[in-house]
Amino acid sequence: MSFEQKLSFIDRALEKRKKENRFRSLTSYRPGEEQVEIWGKDRDLINFCSNDYLGLSKQPELIEKAKEFTETYGSGSTASRLIAGTYDIHRKLEEKLAAAFGTEAALLFNSGFQANSTIIGTLTDRHSLILADKLCHNSLLQGALLSRATFHRFDHNNIDHLNELLHSASEQSYNRILIITETVFSMDGDRADIEEIARLAIDYNALLFADDAHAVGVWGERGLGLARSVSGIDILLGTFGKAFGAFGSFVACSAKMRDYLINFCPGFIYTTSLPPPVIGAVDAAIDLIPEMEKERNMLHRNIKYMRRNINKLGYETKPSDTQIIPVIIGDEQKTLDLAEYLADHGILATAIRPPTVPDQSSRIRITLSAVHRRKHIEHFLKVLGDWNRG
Ligand SMILES: *Cc1c(COP(=O)(O)O)cnc(C)c1O
Repeated sequence: MSFEQKLSFIDRALEKRKKENRFRSLTSYRPGEEQVEIWGKDRDLINFCSNDYLGLSKQPELIEKAKEFTETYGSGSTASRLIAGTYDIHRKLEEKLAAAFGTEAALLFNSGFQANSTIIGTLTDRHSLILADKLCHNSLLQGALLSRATFHRFDHNNIDHLNELLHSASEQSYNRILIITETVFSMDGDRADIEEIARLAIDYNALLFADDAHAVGVWGERGLGLARSVSGIDILLGTFGKAFGAFGSFVACSAKMRDYLINFCPGFIYTTSLPPPVIGAVDAAIDLIPEMEKERNMLHRNIKYMRRNINKLGYETKPSDTQIIPVIIGDEQKTLDLAEYLADHGILATAIRPPTVPDQSSRIRITLSAVHRRKHIEHFLKVLGDWNRG
């Protein structure tokens, strides 16, 4: 037997992707003149794909504080947190986050992906059971797979199914059970019944991990998410790359949980800590977010108006009631055609297709922000309507 050519597995995988018309590549952009605009290959596009839900990424306060912290502390943090990479600005930001989210403690992570993919295995081992919603983000899936725990997924937002799985698990000999859900789901834009899930977690004495990535900044009292002050949640995860307009992530938890993660979580321990400019931007964002009711109201109005009018045009949008709106087209090629048609008419909105979503549920996924104006939304609706008739 001879070894195959070293790289032939790559050729085969890429060829397969191309044949299926699912080969992906990167497109580069530059921010446009207006904040909702993005400069594509040869023109400005209205951006309906950004997670910058409040428009904070260009906010002067964030930029100023990023500059200030850079000037004082430098461009990098020079070490991991347990070595010399914890500056007073890291500590102060964690205190601010804990106070805002109403927990004893908070801990910074370098990204949501890094936190999710590494915390889950820190909380479980091969004697544990993980139960995650079927539509959970890939970072949570990676965490579950890395953990070596038994891993089952419950049907999306199906509390009865979760209850059944918990019930049968309680008759087995797992050392612990970890339930994982998102509060706002990243592909369908619908919400979990987090309070009901938290009640189940308490009933069955299970740990609960709530990924609040798309809710912090946007939903809940003072924009502090949908998981805050729900009792029964052990890990509340928020990201800074979305509504916070920066980069990184955090966990809000008990002081004991924080100590445990500092001591045992590899994705916290073995990595350089977040750099001063990022800490500066996030520090400014957490001061602003609770006060941004005007922006949130604008965003919520945008969401209602957009969804109602997309539905009027005859498109299904799933049970989404958030800033993430899936416009279901179904057929894969048709969805790609629509994305191209939108781009030709000055709109950036990506096609999401299998395997990211189930077969025949290909969609244009749009995300709205507080900086979209009525004219941008009207333009989108007009173009979508014209395509419908074409
Ligand atoms: C975006 C996202 C993440 C990853 O966060 P990053 O900080 O971008 O790595 C995790 N979970 C969910 C649900 C997300 O949508």
